[in-house]
Amino acid sequence: MVSTARPRVGVLALQGDVREHVAALRALDAEVSLVRRPEELAAIDGLVLPGGESSVIDKLSRSFAMREPIIAAREAGMPMYGTCAGLILLADRIRDGITGQQTFGGLDVIVRRNAFGSQVDSFETDLEVPVFGEPPVHAVFIRAPLVEQVGERAEAIAALPDGRVVAVRQGPLLGTSFHPEVTGETRFHELFLEAVRAAS
Ligand code: GLN
Repeated sequence: MVSTARPRVGVLALQGDVREHVAALRALDAEVSLVRRPEELAAIDGLVLPGGESSVIDKLSRSFAMREPIIAAREAGMPMYGTCAGLILLADRIRDGITGQQTFGGLDVIVRRNAFGSQVDSFETDLEVPVFGEPPVHAVFIRAPLVEQVGERAEAIAALPDGRVVAVRQGPLLGTSFHPEVTGETRFHELFLEAVRAAS
């Protein structure tokens, strides 16, 4: 049975645009907490990995002893949504990571960090996202990663007009190269909350 209670979700709060995700999720009537410690994962049914700097979040997750608990929660089926750095952290494999950079994994994809280069490291565009229909998603890319390969288990759900993939889904996992949390776009967070309701 799908629960009708307010979904309890957390935002990984080690580094990055945590506040923006908290505001986006609260606006959708979720019960939101900040997650920095392993025991805080037990109080939530879904986790957002924010935008920021994936190599920093990776390192902090190890110093805060969060890496293994996050992987365990993901393996136990906890829905997770990663934006930008968060997408990198959910990728099974990455390119152009810093030396020793690790990910939590989960998405059967290969993601390249900082894929747009320094000339155009930030831009905005309107994206067609077939699962949402109209209107298109106004997407903000900030030193964004690209999904360079989508494995069999993952599904591309949005691409730039030239076909480069910028949003993927795999069961309860969702990742976007861009930042819906900064533009008032709610549909990705709604999709995440639907997965949380279905799982809890
Ligand atoms: N370039 C950042 C990284 O490698 C991601 C940027 C972002 O999250 N806006 O993690």
